[in-house]
Amino acid sequence: MEANRIYNFNPGPATLPLPVLKEAQAEFLNFHESGMSILEISHRAKEYAAMQAQAKADIKELMGLGDDYEVLFMTGGASTQFAFLPLNFASKEHPGSYVLSGSFAEKAYKEAEHLGIGEIVASSKEGGYRHIPTQEELKIDKDAAYVHLCYNNTIYGTEYHYIPDTQGVPLFADMSSDMLSRPLDFQKFDFIYAGVQKNLGPAGVTLVVAKKSFLEKSPESLPTMFKYETFFKKDSLYNTPPAFNIYMVGKVAAWIKAEGGLAEMEKRNKKKAARLYGVIDASNGFYRGHAEKDSRSFMNVTFRLPSEELEKTFVAEALAKGLSGVKGHRSVGGMRASIYNAMTYEGVDALACFMEAFEKAHA
Ligand SMILES: *Cc1c(COP(=O)(O)O)cnc(C)c1O
Repeated sequence: MEANRIYNFNPGPATLPLPVLKEAQAEFLNFHESGMSILEISHRAKEYAAMQAQAKADIKELMGLGDDYEVLFMTGGASTQFAFLPLNFASKEHPGSYVLSGSFAEKAYKEAEHLGIGEIVASSKEGGYRHIPTQEELKIDKDAAYVHLCYNNTIYGTEYHYIPDTQGVPLFADMSSDMLSRPLDFQKFDFIYAGVQKNLGPAGVTLVVAKKSFLEKSPESLPTMFKYETFFKKDSLYNTPPAFNIYMVGKVAAWIKAEGGLAEMEKRNKKKAARLYGVIDASNGFYRGHAEKDSRSFMNVTFRLPSEELEKTFVAEALAKGLSGVKGHRSVGGMRASIYNAMTYEGVDALACFMEAFEKAHA
């Protein structure tokens, strides 16, 4: 591990690849021989244009998407997308359908509900969001404008391991916490978005990857900045974009490509997750995983200890060993280790070894 750096298991903002941070540091004062930093350069400059175009191309290449999809860089985080989706696409006749699988899925639904144009088509709330609703649990409304999923539930530590068949209803997904973490048949999705601060870069830009047909035309009644059409037609440059954040997302995408793409990310992420779930499953109930086994997330591993007292000790002792950010979200309690693309196996193994030693000392 790099001197002065700790292992950061925080859910977001989260750890970023060290080579990316170093590269950004090295070219900070002189971006692409412009004599300016990325923070200072005009977003109309040719150096900026080349950077943004490359970032978009790399993201689409990683996802295996063609000309019928477009990449947008927006602001306001995933939370603003929660409102933009119903505003742009839903109506009383064609409501937005929501699958409730956790806190962020609920928040997305609430925005549509507030507008009177949202409906719930499945929910695993009962029992504390321990599983991802199955295909059989989904009650598809053929008249819906879209079916909205939260693909990885950051707080509860559950993740989809199948792509629902929505019977022709457009499929929308919040992939804030598992975007570019593994290959998927992305063509099955019509609209994907992510606040980038989990897996892709610094907080402040929202990535949208969607079919052009959903972006070309937006309701006239909406303010300019609420329309996807505005971002689509102006290549995300209608107003001043968060240039540094987009630049960092581009660097992370290039890093993923250089490391071997999404297949390699999946291999690493599965290996990391297996190490931690292995400790949980071998602990004879000392560690209790929150998620049901078939819904376990490769990104956020959630678990409880025998008492809240021990959980406090666990967090403090972990931090003393350079393992930061393992405290779970207050709505679930317990622990959560977020192990996104940039978290190394070395870091996960250090946490797993700590867990094994902690169990020995306290079981
Ligand atoms: C963190 C998170 C959000 C909220 O993202 P913001 O960019 O902070 O608005 C939404 N959905 C998921 C799945 C998340 O993990």
